[in-house]
This record gives sequence, structure tokens and C-alpha cells, in this order.
Amino acid sequence: MWQKFQNSKRRDKPTCPYNPDITAWARRQANETKQHFMVLSGSTVSPAALAKMKKQEVEGCFWCSKATPATLEHVTWICPAFEEERKTFFQNDFPEIQNLAPLQKRLGWASLPSTKSLNGVVLRWMIHVRLKILAARYQN
Ligand SMILES: [Zn+2]
Repeated sequence: MWQKFQNSKRRDKPTCPYNPDITAWARRQANETKQHFMVLSGSTVSPAALAKMKKQEVEGCFWCSKATPATLEHVTWICPAFEEERKTFFQNDFPEIQNLAPLQKRLGWASLPSTKSLNGVVLRWMIHVRLKILAARYQN
């Protein structure tokens, strides 16, 4: 999976060096469910990215009704509409999510020592957000 990313032309491809420990972690997680795999392989398409793909105008976030486009980063980590939910989800680790590495925020790959449980919580949150995005998309 790592090689596939490094060789791809994705604009969000990770630029950090190969780390066998993290790669092994991501591979184990990716085997859990289809949703784990989809998040870890960068397959979550945000509303903003979908609009771009369809060459439509990128509108403000559907959830917080701000002028901010609903990019994956916005919906997952910034959107004020999910702030309370984020706090509940992360509990005592909530302050720590501000400091996650970009790769972890984008793809859910562990950036903390792979034994830390927060890695798993981050990934579960990203799956949760992915399912929210899909639900909103197919409801309309
Ligand atoms: Zn928002």
C-alpha cells in the first residue's frame, strides 16, 4: 500500500519516509473491515473533492453552513458541527488530536508509537466521519 502511494500522482500523497512499523500497523488495520481499508487507502471522497471531480462549484460545508468547503480535513478535524461529538469520541485524548501528524489526519496511519491506543481511536473516528459523508451523500 505504501509503495502504491509513493508512486501515485495523488496531490495528497504522504511525503514522510517509509516506516516499517507504521506500515505493518496500517496493514493490520486495513484487514479489519472494508471501511478501515477505505480510510487507510485514502478512498474517502469529501463533499468538496466530489464537487471538484464533477466540475461543480464547491459549496460551503453542508453541516456547519460556513463558507468553508467541506474538505476531508474540515469535516474530520475542524467542522464546528462535530466539535461536541469529537470531544465525546476522544475524551481525555481530545487535546492531543491537534498535534497529530498530517499523514495521520489524512489517512489515519499511526504517527504515534504504534502501541498507543489513540491510533486506533483516530482511525475509528475517521471511519465514523466517512460513514457520515456517505450517509449525507446518498440521502439526497
Ligand atoms: Zn463544517
